[in-house]
Amino acid sequence: MSDAEIMKIDPSRAAALVSQVKTVRSRIAHAAHDRDVRLVAVSKLKPANDILALARQAEPPQLHFGENYAQELAQKAELLPRDIRWHFIGGLQSGHCKNLAKIPNLWCVSSVDTEKKAQLLDRHRGELIAASSSSSDPPPAKLNIHVQVNTSGESSKSGCAPGAATLALCRAVEAAPSLHLLGLMTIGDIGRSLAAAPAASPDEGAAEPENEDFRLLRQQRDEVASALGRPLELSMGMSADFEAALAAGSDEVRVGSTIFGSRPPRPEAKIKE
Ligand SMILES: *Cc1c(COP(=O)(O)O)cnc(C)c1O
Repeated sequence: MSDAEIMKIDPSRAAALVSQVKTVRSRIAHAAHDRDVRLVAVSKLKPANDILALARQAEPPQLHFGENYAQELAQKAELLPRDIRWHFIGGLQSGHCKNLAKIPNLWCVSSVDTEKKAQLLDRHRGELIAASSSSSDPPPAKLNIHVQVNTSGESSKSGCAPGAATLALCRAVEAAPSLHLLGLMTIGDIGRSLAAAPAASPDEGAAEPENEDFRLLRQQRDEVASALGRPLELSMGMSADFEAALAAGSDEVRVGSTIFGSRPPRPEAKIKE
């Protein structure tokens, strides 16, 4: 029996999580007008039991989970079933690329902001694919990538500068044999999102002003997609602004606290409860 099978799931906690994810899914369906949207449940600093509850009890199962810290992701991936699709969405450091790329069910890295990090992920994913070709497990796939764009220009946010730098990085990912470019990601300036929310609109019937980060990311995506000659997706929107992001054309939203509740401070976070 794996750790996952013996890990206990508290029934009332599981019921609450399942209900929250259901609510978020229906808000997404409504805001996206039934466009296909991927919900990444952001489980950083939340215990593995919570993730297992959603993976086994949500209907349909919730299998996409996002994490911000490389080591925490590695520990959870070790503990939890292989059908989970992990997303690394945190600030990416070169020193973590190797360990991340070698997690077989790491599905996407959403925070690639330099060619060097793309090359490291590509090299180590390539090694993993080559090494597993003889084993009986399903072989790990190419690693999906979002190029993170710093749309707000805030120095505290990571991401590649919009324009030529973003296009060059996307071309490098596109050329990497063990990576698959899915699209672009932004965090954006949450303050701007809130200012653009309907409640802040001074005049009742006025069209909702669109968040500038979302508009800029979409424009960057359109440029890169036309340069590469194929469609690319947008990952934008978190708990506070995912409906606005969907209205702006997002294909993937990353929602944490609305599903899991508020997060503990990092030193107090526990992987196993
Ligand atoms: C934490 C985090 C989220 C989720 O934030 P919530 O406000 O809890 O929904 C989404 N994206 C990134 C990059 C994050 O770091």
